Amino acid sequence: MSLVHLLLRHAHQNPDRPAIFNGTAAWATHGAWAQRSAGLAHRMVAAGLRPGDRVVLFMHNHPRYLEILWAAWWAGLVVVPVNAKLHPREAEWIVSNAGARWAFVSHDVAPEPLAGLERQVGVASAECDALLAPVDDAFAVPVVERDAQDVAWLFYTSGTTGRPKGVMLTHRNLMTMGLTYFIDVDPVAAGDAIVYAAPMSHGAGLYAIPHLMAGARHVVPASGGVDAAELFALGESLGPLSTFAAPTIVKRLVDHAEQHGMGAETCARAFKTIVYGGAPMYAADMARALRVMGPRFVQIYGQGETPMVGTALSRQHLADTTHPRWAERMASVGVAQTPVQVRVADEQGRSLPTGEVGEVLIRGDSVMAGYWMNPEASAAAVREGWLFTGDVGCLDDDGFLTLKDRSKDLIISGGSNIYPREVEEVLLTAPGVAEVAVVGAPDTEWGEVVVAFVVAQGSVSTEQLDAHCLAQMARFKRPKRYVMVGELPKNNYGKVLKTELRTRL
Ligand code: AMP
Repeated sequence: MSLVHLLLRHAHQNPDRPAIFNGTAAWATHGAWAQRSAGLAHRMVAAGLRPGDRVVLFMHNHPRYLEILWAAWWAGLVVVPVNAKLHPREAEWIVSNAGARWAFVSHDVAPEPLAGLERQVGVASAECDALLAPVDDAFAVPVVERDAQDVAWLFYTSGTTGRPKGVMLTHRNLMTMGLTYFIDVDPVAAGDAIVYAAPMSHGAGLYAIPHLMAGARHVVPASGGVDAAELFALGESLGPLSTFAAPTIVKRLVDHAEQHGMGAETCARAFKTIVYGGAPMYAADMARALRVMGPRFVQIYGQGETPMVGTALSRQHLADTTHPRWAERMASVGVAQTPVQVRVADEQGRSLPTGEVGEVLIRGDSVMAGYWMNPEASAAAVREGWLFTGDVGCLDDDGFLTLKDRSKDLIISGGSNIYPREVEEVLLTAPGVAEVAVVGAPDTEWGEVVVAFVVAQGSVSTEQLDAHCLAQMARFKRPKRYVMVGELPKNNYGKVLKTELRTRL
């Protein structure tokens, strides 16, 4: 069973129903979407792409994102969506690791050809228009069938080693994720609409799957980015909308609603459901969000390795303010989603009693097939079916999971993951840098910001360091602050004491 059949069903049953919007403008019906995806699938197969070949999407949110994803599945290919905020060098590394043959790119994201590709197609080019030109009869274009256990999406996630790893998500993983949405997150009707505020290369794009399952509408903001005023305006004309947002985006929406004196009723016209996750949300911020925008929030916790499916804190849980443990529940990430079991274990994987803190383990049909070409990392991450998430937390008697910390050194800034090691490795190649340690500092806007403690050798300015980072990595990973120090605090084994650095901040 391939994900492409989700599109075929609606193209058969509801060909004239509006499916994709570019801002407020109608872009494609389900029928037109299928005709374009079929056209591209046909041309990719004719050009020699074979089942299982990888195709990169290194582009901003765009209506064509959806057409390319389903075209790739039509042709039996594996998609490799890459965060458009990455530096082209970082994207090249992914292209090479994935062995990708083709890429679809936004011009400003990859102005130069990326090394290692056979073909790079600009999404706004005449070449792309021709590739996506609709065929008259989509159903005449054969589907290159895949099995449920075949990889559909390679999801690159940063690792503590500083190099991203390709999480192999199968058709079954994504089908499970899609169906679970209706049970644990939100029911969806055909008249509903999702707006892609966050990057479609991540969770927001994954949620296209349940929305296509339900035959709902897909709205891509014309700006391709995150602008609270634009999102509210889209909600007024096409909504109420559902969306997936990192806590930083939720905060912007709440600020906007508050500054413009919108009551919960106005917010209800614009937004049906706001699903948040991907980074910790402070309970006080969620209490304010509920006060300002009303009961339209659902929290999910997951990770690339079990995409969007771990736990969920439902609208009802959040709204049940009279419950004696409401405050604790607000600070939790909710209960296990339907297709998975969640437990908390010690280092050997032995379950711990409720209330005790340990590593969060998840098992079920949403858990990845492993890391691409990395059997050692796969064997370490998934043991006897259990995914070792690297997150640390505890369960209560009712099954609510509260995250305490991350065993990985991850910094989450504005919903984007940044591994300190990646930033440290780049800074260590800057002239004049002897030692460096990168940590996250709490920040009211971004959740966390990147701070670098630097031991210099000779003279080096923060401007030089910033320029060095800009040339080598994604802008959002650059330290927002540099602290020059004579030496780094270390333990007896010479390991930098990051906790002490965090305390200094
Ligand atoms: P990613 O693989 O990019 O989706 O990042 C997953 C990581 O983000 C998880 O392992 C958690 O550390 C964190 N995360 C995801 N959802 C939540 C949440 N609801 N609350 C707190 N942290 C979260």
